[in-house]
Amino acid sequence: MIVYTHNDCLLKFNGQGHPERRERLESIISSIKSSDFTVEFKDGPLVDLDIVSLVHPKKYIENIFNNIPKNGIIGVEKEPYADTMLCPNSKSAILRSCGSGIAACDDLMKKNERVFCAVRPPGHHAETNRANGFCFINNIAVAARYLQKKYNIDKVAIIDFDVHHGNGTQEIFYKDKSVAYGSSHEFPLFPGTGAENETGEGNIFNATLKAGTKSKEFHEIFEKKILIPVEKFKPDVILISAGFDAHKRDPLANINLESSDFFTITKKIVEIAYVHSKGRVVSFLEGGYDLQALSESIIEHLRGLKTHI
Ligand SMILES: [Zn+2]
Repeated sequence: MIVYTHNDCLLKFNGQGHPERRERLESIISSIKSSDFTVEFKDGPLVDLDIVSLVHPKKYIENIFNNIPKNGIIGVEKEPYADTMLCPNSKSAILRSCGSGIAACDDLMKKNERVFCAVRPPGHHAETNRANGFCFINNIAVAARYLQKKYNIDKVAIIDFDVHHGNGTQEIFYKDKSVAYGSSHEFPLFPGTGAENETGEGNIFNATLKAGTKSKEFHEIFEKKILIPVEKFKPDVILISAGFDAHKRDPLANINLESSDFFTITKKIVEIAYVHSKGRVVSFLEGGYDLQALSESIIEHLRGLKTHI
């Protein structure tokens, strides 16, 4: 098992009291280090902008970097969602988050490694031309396109169990049948997209969850609306948008999963990967804002990722 991360990902500062903070990543890393897993930590490299441009136009990326302030922080969005922030240390964090996913794909394809990317900022809200929801580059979307271009991978499935809908990932692949996107998310909730009648070309699988949903109901919905359609899609690789904000302790949402549920979810995904995808799975950190929930859930997630058949 390889975990990509980088100290630069800790340096992105979004303002006092902002939920997307360095302590999230610190609690994940220290939890992994104090666990009994044998994990190889690797530094996430800076991504090449030509690779980012498989998803985002170069002008869009240049515009983000041109807005980085010399001091303090600035928001890139208008009200009411003025919480996607840039600080002087943003550039390296953004490029290393995406670069971690690319290096992870190389390790997957060349060495058949199972990899988790412990990075921030997250990516699944970033649309082709719009930063939002704390996200700038859609890390997992760039990884999917990279696998297709560099390794001639035919079909990629992205499974997203973050409590928020990945509006960016959906938008990027909405008309692309070579990528399936399955997301379970509280609905209605930010970002407002992800209704079940948003189906793209038959490649988008949205599972909406009512506030208050608990483990048993969650697993039933997840199986029926995400796992079974993904199985039918027969992906060559599965990528996971791993957000841990559907945990009952999370302050930003109202779904009531236990830490151990993240083992069950992950194990089921890995089992599908063994049937259809030669066991190929890469996981990317997205959201999750309660530190205790993060430190427990990451261990359950890695236990699930280590599943072998
Ligand atoms: Zn989230």
